[in-house]
Amino acid sequence: YNHWRELKTDIAYQAIQRIRATGAEIRSQGPLLAHINDNADDWAKMWREQVRVGIIPYYMFVERDTGAQHYFEVPLARAYEIYRDAIKQVSGLARTARGPSMSAGPGKVEIQGVTEVNGEKVFVLRFIQGRNPDWVQRPFFAQYDETATWLNHLKPAFGEEKFFFEDEYNAMKPV
Ligand SMILES: *Cc1c(COP(=O)(O)O)cnc(C)c1O
Repeated sequence: YNHWRELKTDIAYQAIQRIRATGAEIRSQGPLLAHINDNADDWAKMWREQVRVGIIPYYMFVERDTGAQHYFEVPLARAYEIYRDAIKQVSGLARTARGPSMSAGPGKVEIQGVTEVNGEKVFVLRFIQGRNPDWVQRPFFAQYDETATWLNHLKPAFGEEKFFFEDEYNAMKPV
């Protein structure tokens, strides 16, 4: 789902109820898209509506580095603000949505926050899934960048030359 309006027709509601009646559980994911859903209120409303009809909010994805990215992309800094402003509006039952998350080569990388450490403004990141499962859940840091829209735009914080996973990831890639 990209927007709460997709949940609002009778036929959509019936479809959800029929799937639920089989015993299946429905989890939702959607990309954050400029011009479509790039505001917190629409996400909060969508997640609330999903919970109301028996869908479990699961992921907010960052628009991928594919063809139409230039039109739909939202800067990571803005994506994080939208996620945070949306999640803080909803009940705990809708806070099952993770994100904003990039499904990138090394794994699924979530922006966990923006903070300042020793006067340096940084993104706090973590792997939700990694090529190497041992990367999962370790916090790591990138220089804050207001315009970056994807993982490959980010540079390590604190004067580091590489992110902790880079050498290992490069060694995994086919040449
Ligand atoms: C991660 C992901 C999913 C869901 O996979 P999980 O293993 O449940 O996290 C679905 N679609 C895309 C594009 C993903 O990146």
